[in-house]
Amino acid sequence: MTDRGVLTATGARIKEAAVEEFKARLRGQLLRPGDDAYDEARKLWNGMFDRRPALIARCAGTADVMSAVNFARDNGLRAAVRGGGHSFPGHSVCDGGLVIDLSPMKGIRVDPAARRARAQPGVKWIEFDHETQALGLATTGGTASDTGIAGLTLGGGLGWLSGKYGLTVDNLVSADVVIADGRFLTASATENQDLFWGLRGGCGNLGVVTSFEYQLHAVGPMILGGMVVYPLGKAKEVLRFYREFSKTAPDELTTYAAFLNPPDGDTVAALICCYCGSLDKGEEVIRPLRSFGPPLQDMLGPMPYAAQQSLTDAALPAGSCYYAKGSSLADLTDQAIEVFVEYAATKPSPLSAVLVQTVGGAASRVDSEATAFAHRRFPYAPVIVSQWLDAADSEENVGWARDFWRALQPFAGGVYVNDLSYDDEDRVRIAYGANYERLAGLKKKYDPDNFFRLNPNIKPAG
Ligand SMILES: Cc1cc2nc3c(=O)[nH]c(=O)nc-3n(C[C@H](O)[C@H](O)[C@H](O)COP(=O)(O)OP(=O)(O)OC[C@H]3O[C@@H](n4cnc5c(N)ncnc54)[C@H](O)[C@@H]3O)c2cc1C
Repeated sequence: MTDRGVLTATGARIKEAAVEEFKARLRGQLLRPGDDAYDEARKLWNGMFDRRPALIARCAGTADVMSAVNFARDNGLRAAVRGGGHSFPGHSVCDGGLVIDLSPMKGIRVDPAARRARAQPGVKWIEFDHETQALGLATTGGTASDTGIAGLTLGGGLGWLSGKYGLTVDNLVSADVVIADGRFLTASATENQDLFWGLRGGCGNLGVVTSFEYQLHAVGPMILGGMVVYPLGKAKEVLRFYREFSKTAPDELTTYAAFLNPPDGDTVAALICCYCGSLDKGEEVIRPLRSFGPPLQDMLGPMPYAAQQSLTDAALPAGSCYYAKGSSLADLTDQAIEVFVEYAATKPSPLSAVLVQTVGGAASRVDSEATAFAHRRFPYAPVIVSQWLDAADSEENVGWARDFWRALQPFAGGVYVNDLSYDDEDRVRIAYGANYERLAGLKKKYDPDNFFRLNPNIKPAG
């Protein structure tokens, strides 16, 4: 009888006995093609990717992660690391190889007295916010509640609280990490400081994070948020207004501009905001957003912070085909605004959207070299999110996003690493900016063989 085993990328076969021994070492499950849970476990949020890993280790804790890293490394298996599964370019599942699936690791512990939370890497923002908001606390997290805390934190983390409390990485206090040689390290301002620096923007290049410790802040439960929408015909004025308004907004207010379609409606220009200070003061601060011309719809008002965090969820369902393309802009010039409006008006799919994120307030006052997140001096981080349902329409929808992005490039200077797409390999260096060389040195120290390479990859320094 032939040995079932597992094939590596070089065609070598790992013996079945070795796979069985690995399985026996895990507290979580080891899934293989044909197992009931396999197809569900290999799905990503982005329906563009239909990959078939040889093995999926559903890790129950740090010990499983160590076993998985050691098994893959010792047997020459490529390894993908999966947190919340929201990687735009699909880095967290591979064809063949091993997926180190952290999604079962859902532990969260909040310490209200110290205003700290520890969370495991399978946690999503909706789960994190649920626990912290019960105590009136929060930290900067992503604006789609289904996104994982892990990948978002390791890339930087833009969110509704960035203006007041900085990026997610600015609120990271420590992290537990399994590095490529299987060792367990803790990184913080006092331990393995170089690793701590690199984790805050260096993505998954330096190891697998098995626990994140965050600084929390008093937030909500009610904030002032929501959106106000204007007809596309007023979009240029809306963006010009947004440019001036965002320059003088207080830290408590974070505002994004967007082009999107309401269900069954025409494309609109929207201003979406979150004011996390006192509600009375906030009403005054956001008044210009709603009094600028008659809006089509004014949905601004007091709401739970958790509702604000879910505002865009319905528009970004799992399983659609997605292609995202990001840029960083030093300014929203009139010429750049022309490009936004032209392409927003010609999107082939009504499901596609453009979000002009901001990196302002507290996030912009941190030194660009203080953490590995490089692009703090670019106040605008637009991301074009093309979405469609039928794979036959991929070329047209990917093409629209590429053309749009290309037209924006004369005004762009960088890109947020978490907004890179699968065809952006030549932009990875740009995403890490001036911090690339230092990150390459850390890669050499912590992962000299580039074991963790399914990510916006940093090559170990020569
Ligand atoms: C709908 C949507 C909304 C978004 N909104 C925001 C937003 O508001 N703000 C923002 O900053 N970004 C946003 N993003 C981008 C988001 O930050 C990235 O897609 C992020 O990588 C997702 O993390 P994840 O854990 O869900 O993804 P995964 O696909 O699980 O992982 C993404 C990458 O991180 C690596 N990784 C995951 N977990 C670990 C770990 N524990 N240790 C080491 N490496 C790991 C993976 O290997 C992969 O390379 C959004 C993305 C989507 C799809």
